[in-house]
Amino acid sequence: MVQRTLSTPAEDGAARDGSTIRGPVRTCVGCRQRAEATALVRIVARRGDGPPVTVVDLAKTMPGRGAWLHPRRDCLSAAVRRKAFPSALRAPGLTVAPDDLAEAIGGITEVDGLNGRNR
Ligand SMILES: [Zn+2]
Repeated sequence: MVQRTLSTPAEDGAARDGSTIRGPVRTCVGCRQRAEATALVRIVARRGDGPPVTVVDLAKTMPGRGAWLHPRRDCLSAAVRRKAFPSALRAPGLTVAPDDLAEAIGGITEVDGLNGRNR
């Protein structure tokens, strides 16, 4: 298990030379860049009694459609601004709580040990 710290330029993605791709590729709903699924956070819509809400699928095992997002606030706010989650998750009326998501994503960034917070 090699721990690498990829500081990926947003305009390049990690795919340029192909050698850094190690698994399935997903598209970030924030910046629309493609990236390895392992580098992204999976967001799903949880439907309860009330309107659907977004939750971070830490284990990436929740059923249903998922929206993929870089664990970065830039991508999160872009996705929220463009209302990308309701369409990506096919959940009209989806309630997005950016603060909750940012908090969860911030935790992910720390757990992964990636330097996603530098700017
Ligand atoms: Zn992104």
